[in-house]
Amino acid sequence: MLSADEQSAFEESIARVRGLATRALQRAPGATEAIAFTAQLHRSLDTVAAQAAAAGPVPDCKAGCAHCCHVRVEATEPEVFRIAQHLATQPADNLDDVTARLRQHITHAKNSAARQPCSFLVDDRCAIYSVRPAACRKAHSLSVQHCATQAPEIPQNLRLLLDAEALMAGTALAYRDVQLPASAHELNAAVLVALTDAAAQERWYQGNTTALDAASQN
Ligand code: SF4
Repeated sequence: MLSADEQSAFEESIARVRGLATRALQRAPGATEAIAFTAQLHRSLDTVAAQAAAAGPVPDCKAGCAHCCHVRVEATEPEVFRIAQHLATQPADNLDDVTARLRQHITHAKNSAARQPCSFLVDDRCAIYSVRPAACRKAHSLSVQHCATQAPEIPQNLRLLLDAEALMAGTALAYRDVQLPASAHELNAAVLVALTDAAAQERWYQGNTTALDAASQN
């Protein structure tokens, strides 16, 4: 629970990010540039995470620890299209493997409530680390024990959470200010649509809020 002053500072941070991001997006001349803008959000999130870790408390997260890659992950439309663009540069065989893993993940999720690894988790490493969504960059834990035992609440660094939330919320609002949808979608299903429906990106750029819905492929 935030104090009134903390809540006010949080809202001011969101408004500041929204203003800066809206002006930057208004200068972005096309869909590719609007999608590339997510890199700026991601760099800012990485900076916030590094600063929070330096100030402490230090997260218990280590390379190869992937508990948080076994829960539902969400990403916004521009993040999803950026991941799809990144994947599209891979050899066809790799892309076929990714598509098969995504389909398998979605089928499993439909038929079982059991946790399953993200499709991009390979040998406990993220295969799309450079373009992973904001939700993954924000995710951290002050106790790996809590993660390993699937505790209902994971202890986290409040400063990091607030700064990351302000960046993510302000940026999402900025996309909407320029009539580009930016809402949360389940990562695996959304990337599959972006990879297999060549018209999805254009639908999004025309302001269609269902551009990443599987049904809108029909
Ligand atoms: S995108 Fe990468 S970091 Fe995020 S859940 Fe998937 S494997 Fe983990």
